[in-house]
Amino acid sequence: MASTQQLVFAPLGGIGEIGMNVSIYGVGDNRSHSWLAVDLGVSFAAEEHLPGIELILPDIRYLVEERRSLAGIVLTHAHEDHFGALIDLWPQLKVPVYATPFTAALLEAKRASEPGAPEIPVTVVPLGGRVKIGPFDVEFVSVAHSIPESNALIIRTPLGCVLHTGDWKIDPTPTLGVPTDEAKLRKLGEEGCLALVGDSTNAVREGRSPSEADVAKTIAELIGTAPRRVAVTTFASNVARLRAVADAARAADREVVLVGRAMERIAQVARETGYFDGVQEFRSAEFYGHLPPDKVVALCTGSQGEARAALARIAQDQHPNVTLCKGDRVIFSARSIPGNEKAIGRVLNGLIDQGIEVITDRTHLVHVSGHPRRAELEELIGWVKPKILIPAHGEALHLHEHASLARKLGVPTVIECRNGDLVELAPEPGIIDEVPAGRVYKDGMVLIEADARTIADRRRLSFAGAISVAMALTEGGELAADPEIDMIGIPERGRDGALMSNIAFDAIMEAFETLPRPRRRDPDSVSDAVRGAVRSAIAQTWGKKPMCHVHVLTV
Ligand SMILES: [Zn+2]
Ligand SMILES: [Zn+2]
Repeated sequence: MASTQQLVFAPLGGIGEIGMNVSIYGVGDNRSHSWLAVDLGVSFAAEEHLPGIELILPDIRYLVEERRSLAGIVLTHAHEDHFGALIDLWPQLKVPVYATPFTAALLEAKRASEPGAPEIPVTVVPLGGRVKIGPFDVEFVSVAHSIPESNALIIRTPLGCVLHTGDWKIDPTPTLGVPTDEAKLRKLGEEGCLALVGDSTNAVREGRSPSEADVAKTIAELIGTAPRRVAVTTFASNVARLRAVADAARAADREVVLVGRAMERIAQVARETGYFDGVQEFRSAEFYGHLPPDKVVALCTGSQGEARAALARIAQDQHPNVTLCKGDRVIFSARSIPGNEKAIGRVLNGLIDQGIEVITDRTHLVHVSGHPRRAELEELIGWVKPKILIPAHGEALHLHEHASLARKLGVPTVIECRNGDLVELAPEPGIIDEVPAGRVYKDGMVLIEADARTIADRRRLSFAGAISVAMALTEGGELAADPEIDMIGIPERGRDGALMSNIAFDAIMEAFETLPRPRRRDPDSVSDAVRGAVRSAIAQTWGKKPMCHVHVLTV
């Protein structure tokens, strides 16, 4: 029986969550496909109770299994939620990577700053370029976003043509880089677009995203009218925003001081790739103290309240080079990523307590989103007229709103899928199967399975501490010495005022003595009985059961 060729799509991340974008496209019959991966992003763990974990990476076991059929990975842009997992995960795949110059340069800068990072061969594709990757003919389409060189991808295959939007918006005046390539997208509409896989981040918001140019104007006003020092914090990767600050500083006859390593790294890459052509040289943080208050703008990392970043340290008056005081002005040129509100609140409060004026997007247009609102989504659908629309990049609400909008606009097939769904795009659109998908955690320098016991143990430890008991037994099953007890994270006294260590000691002795004599010679029986007794005795006087480890030695 001849097998039919099919074009399939599967999201391995990014659906129903913020971040961790990974998508794969496959061409082949139902037994084997050639694959193309788009993006390999991370997610930040701030929002979840994962003690010790900062980064969440996609589980790529399916790609690892299929790596011999994986023709390459294309990066749409250099945001962490799209390329942040590459350095950690590429060694498991070892396939060619494709990116435009800025993304490639930022990847290289990141790699250089991480000891032991692998050499990753990147094929640099010019803006608007077109490359053959296995059976896929991939054309880059420039789109406006909040980082230079965001790209939508037109992925042409023998079974049809897909538009994978990546992150985009329509900004006729992006202030840096090229606007969204409307002509190319309209042409795609004439050529015929089978499926649109699109950014849903702002699908609940009516109208259009304001332009980066409007933000630049507000920032110029705020820096121009500041009586004393000004500090601006923003996402370091928003080079257009950095440039707006630089221009505003120059107009106000102020120098720009970079504070924070991420700022320095991006500024360096922006210079290498020409995005800072004509922008004045910046000063390093050491120079800050030498400038009069009305001659300086500090460009700081830490717009998300990150405790170790520049602004949090300034807010606590703990930065080695940079201080602010009463009458100075801080501009928060960023939105808060869900989960970071508390940390940002701490920074804001720290600044306000010091009498510093804080300006946020609640009162001034000092930030705009890089994602399309409903009128923009509508416009794109009108340009490319897809037969199928798949909402991507968003939480359930955003995806669903995007889907409803597409249905309302008459897109014939709208497919709402989840991470790991295998979606047939041609010849018969629909969800046909599942592939493994999920997440892994980066714990220090190690990757661990999301369902490993490590994090559950750590959560329990943080909730109720731990007791460790060491017992020495003779071969005859007698105690050779008093048990040793160590407690971590447990209050000194229980509800009735008795010392916890005494309560534990009594429980150990009673458990041991009530154990039938033959079982006292078996270390495992002793350990089980003692553990149970200690935990319930502590629970009775504290209301919590700590972890308990019992070590039994025969001497
Ligand atoms: Zn992005
Ligand atoms: Zn994104």
